[in-house]
Amino acid sequence: MEKNSIKSKQSFISEEEQTLEWNDVLNSFKKNFGTEIYSSWLKDITLFKEFNDYLILTVPTRFIRDWIVSRYLDKILEQIKTFKLTLNRIEFKISEEKSSSYKVDDFNKVAEIKDSILNYNRLNPNLNFDNFIEGTSNEIALNSSKKICQQLSRYNPLYIYGGVGLGKTHLLNAIGLELQEKTNVMFISAERFMYHFIKSIKKNDMVNFKDFFRKSSVFIIDDIQFIRGKEGLQEEFFHTFNSLIDKSSQIIISADRPPMKLDRVQERIKSRLAGGLIVDIDTPDFALKNKIIKKRLNNIENEFKEKCNISDEVINFIANESKTNIRELVGVLNRVIAFSRIHKKELSIPECKNILKDVFNQAKVITVDKIQNKVSNYYNITLTEMLSQRRSRPLARPRQIAMYLSKKMTTRSLPEIGRRFANRDHTTVIHAVKTITRLSEKDEEMKKNINHIKALLLEE
Ligand code: ADP
Ligand code: MG
Repeated sequence: MEKNSIKSKQSFISEEEQTLEWNDVLNSFKKNFGTEIYSSWLKDITLFKEFNDYLILTVPTRFIRDWIVSRYLDKILEQIKTFKLTLNRIEFKISEEKSSSYKVDDFNKVAEIKDSILNYNRLNPNLNFDNFIEGTSNEIALNSSKKICQQLSRYNPLYIYGGVGLGKTHLLNAIGLELQEKTNVMFISAERFMYHFIKSIKKNDMVNFKDFFRKSSVFIIDDIQFIRGKEGLQEEFFHTFNSLIDKSSQIIISADRPPMKLDRVQERIKSRLAGGLIVDIDTPDFALKNKIIKKRLNNIENEFKEKCNISDEVINFIANESKTNIRELVGVLNRVIAFSRIHKKELSIPECKNILKDVFNQAKVITVDKIQNKVSNYYNITLTEMLSQRRSRPLARPRQIAMYLSKKMTTRSLPEIGRRFANRDHTTVIHAVKTITRLSEKDEEMKKNINHIKALLLEE
């Protein structure tokens, strides 16, 4: 079994890819943060490694990292997301600490880097109970979380589920902060749990691995859906889970769906997960969104000792329009604040609409299917031709454009996109993205066509 797990490590790990032009990102930092912040803190950030859903960035010193993380992280993430929709996490590596060689072609070395990131205390002091705003969509989850802190093992495990950006990680983190004073807390995402797991197998060090995780009194694991389809990992998780329960450690779990909906997870694990209290977080209603905006504005005003010029009308507009989740809401708000600061004025609704056009449009679901249809229509070819293996230019170009747009306008990963194009390899998709990017830079006609198709897609 262990051998298998090593062999299939590739499928455990977020897909590595290269689609970001880092200079573009830096330029947008300069534009959106202003030259002062940019040149003091952000200009030396470099892109170290890019994955489908996260980035590893390098900063010169620990101090700069802490400064950036405490003040600008959300906004940085938001900015980079405009270039890379699939992004949901950023990690920082400190370059002054680098030992002689950090060449990344060797899995061992990469693993070491990841581990050093891992050791960094992951609890974020800002994600606490005080900052978590209660609403009808999350009150049960919030109250159960607080109760756990007062009385451990009352519900075991506590299982919190809900869609992305609704506050699961925030709640788990708040529980961790609350309890870490009193007891031995382990807070880890299922993905990181896996990194440890693979590393231990490689180093033949499973004893330490088991020890490390099983000694915690409170074990908090985020995004458990990550274990789907990963047999070796599930096996290990199951044993960890059991031995923690045996010694009455409290377990807290988050996921994007209820236990029984976790497909490709062993039945026995599902039933363990469902054995305690299950609570969900729903999408926020208007009142909650409104409260969150006001609280954040308040915090910013206190921190910067400067009034935010955001009218109630604009607050209501944002609360109304932002429909997906709280992470988006916060990103949208940050953007509006940044604009009103740069232009030193209170924004009107039309100005807001303009600034947020792309965000709210993106919330419309654009799928690979829709893109394939639009593009084949546009170029007068049939869908079958688009998906066929034929490589003549009149078919290949539209196909590449459709792949390119799928990468830019949906959150699908490169391999997923490849699969939707008659099971092509992800390298074919990378090639398409690069080709079309290059062509649209030098070929006005191409650029115009692509913008036109984009507009058609967004219009619907
Ligand atoms: P999830 O883990 O469910 O994807 P997160 O916990 O990362 O979502 O939340 C996304 C963002 O929204 C974070 O910045 C978080 O602090 C914020 N957030 C979510 N729910 C609330 C809330 N009830 N009050 C204040 N901030 C919230
Ligand atoms: Mg989360």
